[in-house]
Amino acid sequence: MRRILVTNDDGFFSPGIQALASALDPLGEVTIVAPEREASAVGHALTLRRPLRIEQISERVHSVDGTPTDCVNIALAEVLGGKPDLIVSGINKGWNVGDDVTYSGTVAGALEGALLGYPAIAVSLQFHRGEWDFGPAASIAARLAAGLLDQPLLPRTFLNVNVPKAPIRGVRVTVQAKRNHITQVDKRLDPRGRPYFWIEEAMDEWEPHDRSDRQAVADGYVSITPIHPDMTDHRALGQVESLTETALRAEGAPFAKAGGTS
Ligand code: MN
Repeated sequence: MRRILVTNDDGFFSPGIQALASALDPLGEVTIVAPEREASAVGHALTLRRPLRIEQISERVHSVDGTPTDCVNIALAEVLGGKPDLIVSGINKGWNVGDDVTYSGTVAGALEGALLGYPAIAVSLQFHRGEWDFGPAASIAARLAAGLLDQPLLPRTFLNVNVPKAPIRGVRVTVQAKRNHITQVDKRLDPRGRPYFWIEEAMDEWEPHDRSDRQAVADGYVSITPIHPDMTDHRALGQVESLTETALRAEGAPFAKAGGTS
């Protein structure tokens, strides 16, 4: 029997995670270990400076008072009773595309799974007003999960899946979009005259890109982006080598090319 771990950042009670767990059920033994409360935009945070508690909600549902990354680690250490065959995070209320994947707790759940060496998928549904129907996103996630179990990707690579609101026109394999970050910080005063701040993503200004995740979802397509945790800019290695050589030689500092020691 395959073991499938399901987590999210919206909380164990979210209808998105419940729809996902139900859709994955035919593929194996599904266990939910998810935050006890909303933990959106916590990114890849790991809780190191306070104790973490786990609570069993029902036979196969557990909540943790921590982040999605905490949940994955506690699930592996304490809950699953063996290694998972797959880790799926979601279904998030709202897309996680472009540069925003670095803020996403949903994506971080899958990222942690990939870093620990397991096949992983993050699934998000485009934000919309009115009632949320997670059904189509859940069934797409289950079909991708089945595919991934049969044909694993390279180690440390996982899938970031974003599903548009209905109607769905098709599927695109995509790259991360680039967003021009104009984050608005509102400063206000509390009743005692002390300032407080409220961060809002005020502007959504995206660089146009035919193959981007954002464009796919905006056009009504399911976006599937392979992601891996190596954030090195391989294009810049040569430039940084020459910059480093110039900058540090000038100071008389020891310098060694890649692979060397100084
Ligand atoms: Mn969320």
